[in-house]
Formats: sequence, structure tokens, C-alpha cells
Amino acid sequence: MARIYYDADADLSRLHGKRIAILGYGSQGHAHAQNLRDSGCDVCVGLYRGSKSWEKAQADGFPVYEVPEAVRRSDVIMMLVPDPAQPALYREAVAPHLSPGKTLMFAHGFNIRFGQIIPPPDIDVSMVAPKAPGHRMREVFREGGGVPALVAVHQDATGQALANALAYAKGLGCTRAGVIETTFTEETETDLFGEQVVLCGGVSHLIKAAFETLIEAGYQPEIAYFECLHELKLIVDLMYQGGLSYMRYSVSDTAEYGDYRSGPRVIDDHVRATMKQILEEIRSGAFAEEWIEENAKGRPWFNAKRAEERKHPIEEVGRQLRAMMPWLNPKEVPAG
Ligand code: NDP
Ligand code: MG
Ligand code: MG
Repeated sequence: MARIYYDADADLSRLHGKRIAILGYGSQGHAHAQNLRDSGCDVCVGLYRGSKSWEKAQADGFPVYEVPEAVRRSDVIMMLVPDPAQPALYREAVAPHLSPGKTLMFAHGFNIRFGQIIPPPDIDVSMVAPKAPGHRMREVFREGGGVPALVAVHQDATGQALANALAYAKGLGCTRAGVIETTFTEETETDLFGEQVVLCGGVSHLIKAAFETLIEAGYQPEIAYFECLHELKLIVDLMYQGGLSYMRYSVSDTAEYGDYRSGPRVIDDHVRATMKQILEEIRSGAFAEEWIEENAKGRPWFNAKRAEERKHPIEEVGRQLRAMMPWLNPKEVPAG
């Protein structure tokens, strides 16, 4: 079983007297900066000139510097810019200003796991990865709670890396809920696997395939949308609160019978074999290599795919139906 740390296992005073630089002020960055400040820490924000986030961080009362200056001034540096932007930022603006004894932190292990960032051996490298979007983490903290997080140590130059990472997690409020020990490798590989096979890739393609099957059989797109996409939220909410058993307890017996009878035929041995293959591509680094190269080329395949997917008929009918349901707070992808 996993090792889990709580408030009593973490000493916030380890961070007092240290300066913390939060690089990036987006979803995670703003929440880390604000929670740590409320926990009595000395926080500055590192950004680039012209960043949209600069004024936001300043308006929220933080000292804001360009990244090299923020790194120079700080003992703990938390990397919260988008993952694909991290390697270049690290090379150009972080590495030259790291000195022995400083701590470099991450909220996701990709760039360390796949060797895109190789820090010098005389600094600590650790991870605190909250299991919630930043806005949720901030909200829960203000209500006196915390969201769970993962903690990992990649490099322990000082012998204090884990204790310091736990102090950081406590500053975020995460030890109120529980902080699970992991490794950069486990966090990265399971994160990529989960998003590819279930959360993003698996679910969206399951929805599309089922929608297309109904349309091809002559059913109306509006009805297909409700059955294959809209109602998914109800099911996910039930699983979120009480697992698969509570979902099955709440739906009709007919639905539950259909689950047992047909589910294993949809997710059959072929699908399981494909899952294993995808996991292998993640573990071997083949996926990472491909994605890094796609970024280096300016994302031609990714951008074309994104444009194509946005034109799928389920998106068109969904837009019209969501307009009939203003109470669900319909969203559009921002232009550009
Ligand atoms: P966002 O895209 O929300 O925010 C990125 C921030 O970095 C913005 O403030 C952006 O400024 C700034 N930025 C972008 N490029 C640079 C640069 N070259 N130099 C300095 N600042 C830059 O990112 P997230 O918060 O989503 O992700 C940050 C990290 O947290 C990632 O490692 C991610 O994997 C991890 N994570 C994210 C979670 C989430 O829920 N979003 C959950 C757990 C981990 P501007 O917008 O002005 O360009
Ligand atoms: Mg991910
Ligand atoms: Mg139904």
C-alpha cells in the first residue's frame, strides 16, 4: 500500500526564512503562490516580459520578476509553466542561476522522467503534484480543507528533499487531505496512461464511436447525443462519489445487467492488448519522443487533428442542445 503523509508528518517551518519562486501564474501557479503566501511563506512569481499573467500576479500582490531574477533570488523554484515550454526555459533562464543547495520542484514528472531537464547533482529535485486543477485547490484551501497530492523525490542532495517537499505540500494545504508518496517515473507513466486510455483518449473515442454507430443506424443525432455524451456526467458523478458499485446501485437493474453483459464485449481482449501496447510506448519513451518531435516541428499533425475533431457532427448537435440548457453553463472553445 502507498505511504501517505498528513499534517503531523510535515513541518511548515522548514520553509520559513526561505524564498520560493513560482514560475508561471496559470492554473497551478496562482494557487501555489496564494496558498503558500497564506501559509506564511515568502513567495515571488517568475514570468516573461509581455506575459498576460504578469499583471494578474502583480494585482494579487506578488513581487513579479523575469525568470532568471526570480530564480537568483530564491531557494525553492517551482516549475509551473506548460510542460512543453519547460526544457527551453530551464536551459535558458533557470539552470544558469541554480546554485548548490537550491531546490527545483515540479508538479508533473514528464521532463525529468524523459530526460528533457537534467539538473546538476548538487540540487534537490522533488515533486508535489496536487490532484486537482489550481482553481479547485485554491477554493478548497480557503474553505479550510485541502486537495490530495503526490510527492516524489528525484534527487536528494541535501538529505532533506522529502521533508522539504512535504513542507511545501503542507503550505498548499495538501497534507490536510493526504499526500501519497510516489516516484517521478510512476507519476509520469500513470498520468500519461490514464489520460490516453481512459480520461481523454478512451472516453472521447468511446463516445464518438457509439454516436456514429447510432447515426449510421438511422437514429437522430439529438437523441444519440443525449444517450452517448450528455448522460455520461450523471454516471461519472455517481462513480466519483461511490465507485462503480454505487453507480450500479443507482441505475436501473436493466442498465446494470447490460453493463455486465455488454461491457466486457466492448472492452475485450483486443482492447486490453492495445492498452498494454500503449503503456509500453509510454514506458519505452517512444510516446514522449514522438510528442517532443511534434512540438519541435510546430505541431502540424496535432493542429490539423484538433481542427478536424472540432468539426465532428457530435460537436455541432451538442452546441445546439446545450443552448437549450443554459443552466448547465455551456462553454465554447475560445477563438485563436
Ligand atoms: P497554465 O497553462 O495554466 O499556466 C502556465 C503559466 O506559465 C502561465 O502563467 C503562462 O503565462 C506562463 N508561461 C508560459 N510560458 C512561459 C515561459 N516561457 N516563461 C515564463 N512563464 C511562462 O499551466 P498549468 O498550471 O496547467 O501547468 C503547470 C504545471 O502544472 C505543468 O507541469 C502541469 O503538468 C502541472 N499540473 C497541472 C494541473 C492542472 O490542473 N492544470 C494539475 C497538476 C499538475 P501566460 O499565460 O501569460 O503566457
Ligand atoms: Mg497529464
Ligand atoms: Mg438511457
